[in-house]
Amino acid sequence: MKKESLTNFIRNIINEDLNLNPHMVIRTRFSPEPNGYLHIGHAKSIFLNFEIARDYQGKCNLRFDDTNPEKENIEYVNAIQHDIKWLGFDLDEDSICYTSNYFKKLYDYALELIHQGLAYVDELSLEDICKYRGNFFSTGKNSPYRERSIKKNLYYFSKMREGKFSEGSACLRAKIDMTSPFIILRDPVLYRIKFSHHYNTGNEWCIYPTYDFAHCISDAIENITHSLCTLEFADNRRLYDWILRHISLHGSSSHPKQYEFSRLNIKYCVMSKRTLNLLVTEKVVDGWDDPRMPTISGFRRRGYTASSIRKFCHRIGVTKQENYLEIAALEACIRDELNETAPRALAVLNPIQIVFENLPLHYEEYITMFNHPTKPDMGHRLVMFSQSIYIDRSDFLEKANKNYKRLVLGEKIKLRHAYIIQANSVKKDKNGNISLIYCTCDMNSLNKSIRDIKEVRGIIHWVSAKKSISAEFRLYNNLFLHPNPDPDNSKESSIESISHLINPNSLLYQYGYVENSLISTNPGAIYQFERVGYFCIDINCSSSEQLIFNRTVKLRSNWK
Ligand code: ATP
Ligand code: MG
Repeated sequence: MKKESLTNFIRNIINEDLNLNPHMVIRTRFSPEPNGYLHIGHAKSIFLNFEIARDYQGKCNLRFDDTNPEKENIEYVNAIQHDIKWLGFDLDEDSICYTSNYFKKLYDYALELIHQGLAYVDELSLEDICKYRGNFFSTGKNSPYRERSIKKNLYYFSKMREGKFSEGSACLRAKIDMTSPFIILRDPVLYRIKFSHHYNTGNEWCIYPTYDFAHCISDAIENITHSLCTLEFADNRRLYDWILRHISLHGSSSHPKQYEFSRLNIKYCVMSKRTLNLLVTEKVVDGWDDPRMPTISGFRRRGYTASSIRKFCHRIGVTKQENYLEIAALEACIRDELNETAPRALAVLNPIQIVFENLPLHYEEYITMFNHPTKPDMGHRLVMFSQSIYIDRSDFLEKANKNYKRLVLGEKIKLRHAYIIQANSVKKDKNGNISLIYCTCDMNSLNKSIRDIKEVRGIIHWVSAKKSISAEFRLYNNLFLHPNPDPDNSKESSIESISHLINPNSLLYQYGYVENSLISTNPGAIYQFERVGYFCIDINCSSSEQLIFNRTVKLRSNWK
């Protein structure tokens, strides 16, 4: 992978740390909850963490923060690993970690807090815990269970572990300060009861640490030096520091430093896994890898390359500024790359047939075409031209003013890489729709440039009607109609609350033809269909019986 020079405020901090301590080994981590597939926002965090580790000869762990058994499963674990590797980052066995492998240690740390009188078993209901916590405007109130003796707390915590309490009837809370201006410090919950099977630890546990309790300790256990996360975790840092100050991290000198950066937000996209999950389960989309999804797997299926996503992450940089990017910023990265790398081909998405009146019925010839206009080393191919061809319906009008640079009745046009033709007459069906265009082909015009012939309006693309391959084209547009469909990363989102925001035209199908040379292509192969856009062969559904192309990106951005 090409190394590009990068700088951002986090790298500046690391440089300063290394100046003070040149022997420091930089350790970062990317720590997803395995409760969904990775999205493009995660790519920003992956890029940041793995590139730093690589550039500073350090190490980046992939750690699954898997403390919530009801929502997590092995499918997500595998998909996350697959996507990170696909993005081009190394994952060796010892850099893949699981918070669930630390459950025993975490339990012991919880005991340590109880022993110090810094944690207690609370039997308030969840509702009361919330009520007692207060809010931004009012301080909290102590739970009646807060002053239980250490001995009682140890006893009740062991009963929680033994499964003697029902779900929701007790939890372990840190004893910090119910009057703190930081709500996160108002005796946060450290352990809750869940009689759920965990994909990694099975039924070994019926109490699970909360994300906050486990996250900071897991970082410390792994000797993470720079714990990078998004801005919404800024307040949590106070809790993490409190926890790490009060436990004895044997064999570890590390108290990771946390730095926050802004999340990636893209207009017309949702980036909350909860909402993405909803789109999948409610079948609004065809799975996590639906090409309309902002997931890594969705972009891959759509034809995005790993290098284009890395390029995007490089371009957007890392700051503390919250903003919403245009999807055009990402599209530009893949378009620039494919312009260089994608072989050209001819495809007609919405065909109308042309018959050449001056050619015999069985006329056919193969025209040599270069696969790339400026890269002869990408080779050439033979494309059939025949007595009958297809052009796109939108490339013909019976009458048009001179701004229309396409075929018009009685006038001339150049076929891409082929001949100049003239439209003579049309055949219409009983509804008045044009079903056929009769033309004349100038057989002496193959190598003529349209600059030499004034009366030629422009150039259009085409395929042979005799030997082209029928294909389905899937054209994707924004999945959402609203630029900010998920404003609060809303915890309450339901399908009813978002269905009116979903674009009914997010996927449009067209049925047409591609040139004969595409007969033996592989799923995932990407082409520039001249004058149309970049398309890739769908990796899930395309077959030799039914070729299916996904539009990766248009040739030009609509966005100004
Ligand atoms: P979601 O809201 O999608 O569920 P999350 O933060 O709960 O996101 P995690 O699996 O916990 O998802 O995320 C793993 C890491 O990726 C975290 O460090 C998180 O800060 C980071 N991350 C998540 N979303 C974004 C984003 N939009 N931009 C940048 N980083 C992100
Ligand atoms: Mg999270």
